[in-house]
Amino acid sequence: MFDHSIITLNEESVKNNIKFLRKKLGNTIKISAVVKANAYGHGIEQIIPIFEKNGIDHYAVFYYSEAIRVYNCITKPSTIMVMGYLCDESIRDAILKEIEFFVFNIERLNLAIKYAKELNLKAKIHLEAETGMNRSGLNIEELNMAINIIKENKAFIEISGFCTHLAGAESVSNHLRIQNQLKKYKKMLTILEVNNLNPTYKHVANSAAAIVYPKTKMDLVRVGIMLYGFWSSSEVFIHYLNAHQDKLDPLKRVLRWNSQIMAIKEVKSGEFVGYGISYQAQKNITTALVPIGYSLGYNRSLSNKGYVLIQGCRCSVIGVVNMNMIIIDVSNVNDPKVGDEVVLIGKQADLEIKVSAFSELSDELNYEILAHLPESIIRTVKNQ
Ligand SMILES: *Cc1c(COP(=O)(O)O)cnc(C)c1O
Repeated sequence: MFDHSIITLNEESVKNNIKFLRKKLGNTIKISAVVKANAYGHGIEQIIPIFEKNGIDHYAVFYYSEAIRVYNCITKPSTIMVMGYLCDESIRDAILKEIEFFVFNIERLNLAIKYAKELNLKAKIHLEAETGMNRSGLNIEELNMAINIIKENKAFIEISGFCTHLAGAESVSNHLRIQNQLKKYKKMLTILEVNNLNPTYKHVANSAAAIVYPKTKMDLVRVGIMLYGFWSSSEVFIHYLNAHQDKLDPLKRVLRWNSQIMAIKEVKSGEFVGYGISYQAQKNITTALVPIGYSLGYNRSLSNKGYVLIQGCRCSVIGVVNMNMIIIDVSNVNDPKVGDEVVLIGKQADLEIKVSAFSELSDELNYEILAHLPESIIRTVKNQ
């Protein structure tokens, strides 16, 4: 059934991106594939089999519900790491399932120990350090408290990681703040080590940090956006290009989103199109109705600004984006027909609608647009 639109994942692109990352990061560094927000809109259940085929065996999520989805679809022994929220009962379940999780306060550490004791198992935790982002993490005082608690409960805690998150490695304006974070991280790591607590993985880098600050790669990099073929920001891309002669983009987009024309209409010069008066035809035009709107992540700010591809032509969104529809000017398309493919994101013939073009027009981040693609859109995989 074709509902309103379909998302197609390109398996070759994923393979390409992982190959590039392996080369860039080096063989000894673990890639943790970040699959939060439904794998950046790509679909957890659809992307994980592709990741597995390409050697990924470490996954990072934000919510416990995402961890369970990953748990249910992996077929190879893999590590799952919850970087964010999980409720008390989920901590118990996580320990049972050997799902790892960040510990960013003493309460969570105590809960982990309580449940681990009940179950007579070890909780696998990543101690998260507060190094200057002031979002989540243990400060030095809390780290010292945590160390004492862990020492008293060594049978019930495994320190799988010692980590922090950098406050904006994708922008050079944060350079100084990040240097300070790294200094603080090192200092806190030393405290851990002099207490003979050695984490399995030391990790601080996301995609941007791994490219811009190579020394942040440590033992593991939490890679999200680059796996899906995007740069964290144009600054990061330029940073990469400056060091490379060929000036080619090594990443390939994975996702394509398309719909189809549901109706065609002729509109006379002078008529308004859609709600209100934001668009008035300046000549006789042909319009196409497409069953996509803001309820499916096609942002209202693309009203009178967005564009799509039909029959290899670039066509504009006219009037306001509705909840379930957009109206497209197809006057420059040769014989547009109901059922013609409409590309919202991705390539058609020689043209491409990039998420970045989308985001410049709608003032959203790449991340935001991808994360807003609803789970209800059917995802398929193209693998030739
Ligand atoms: C989302 C996230 C990442 C991945 O970031 P990308 O920019 O997509 O590579 C890494 N670490 C943490 C803590 C995150 O929340």
